[in-house]
Amino acid sequence: MYSGATISHFGAGDLKHMVTKRRRDKLIEIVYQHYKKLAKNDDTLVWASSPEKMTKKKADAFFLGVMLDQGQVAERAWEGGRHLRENHFQPGKTFWKNISSAKEREIKKITKTGFDNKSYAVNFQTNKFPKWLRSAAKKISDEYNSDPRLIWDASPEECFLIYERFKEFDGIGDALAKMAQFILVRKFGVAGGKKNKHMLSIKPDIHLCRVLYRCGITSSAKISVTADEIGSFKLKSPADFDAACWHIGREFCGKTDRKCGLCPLSDDCEKNE
Ligand code: SF4
Repeated sequence: MYSGATISHFGAGDLKHMVTKRRRDKLIEIVYQHYKKLAKNDDTLVWASSPEKMTKKKADAFFLGVMLDQGQVAERAWEGGRHLRENHFQPGKTFWKNISSAKEREIKKITKTGFDNKSYAVNFQTNKFPKWLRSAAKKISDEYNSDPRLIWDASPEECFLIYERFKEFDGIGDALAKMAQFILVRKFGVAGGKKNKHMLSIKPDIHLCRVLYRCGITSSAKISVTADEIGSFKLKSPADFDAACWHIGREFCGKTDRKCGLCPLSDDCEKNE
């Protein structure tokens, strides 16, 4: 049961599901420890001390790499993105417009055989990828002035927009959108990067809301309540907290399948239904 001084922050949820402030601080610390463990094996979670410059050409290839990073090793996906950008659709300023105005059969042929006679996407996506690519090219041309860098043009307080904008593209789901956001912020210094680490906001997704409510950090699993309550905790690094909670939600705390015995939060978790 919650009994902290910040009780006035809460009202929209049900306080009886919440842990004490002391236990909440402990749970938050465990989440950060989990982030540190993840970052040891995942480059996308490591903060670059000097962020890489993102040219337009690199941005085009990065976006393609994100789309291709499903069902194949990341290195091949990033290499595929670079290769596609450099070898097809008359690379240059009009790259995305050239794709969106290309004939369907040309897009299919290139995507299925253009990567040194192989498909850019994995087998089960060879028929879907041409459609996703055309639809993405149209969206980037029409809504982002043919420059993917505008997709991730966001202030630290609006960092969550990067994730939301990626998710609006066909073929880019929750996991890819999060991955793209993590890499852009940590490696390329987007949304202020490391120096604004404490300001980067999170907009909770279903995994994060579920984990925080079940373990008793928040009073409800509703997105709006979670966002309000998390904002009031003044986290030291919201992006890292987000990454770790998201991972716990995906790996251990499924909607209908909980693996509490394996979950790092288990000892202190309230295990709310
Ligand atoms: S201990 Fe169980 S209920 Fe709590 S966060 Fe982990 S998986 Fe979810």
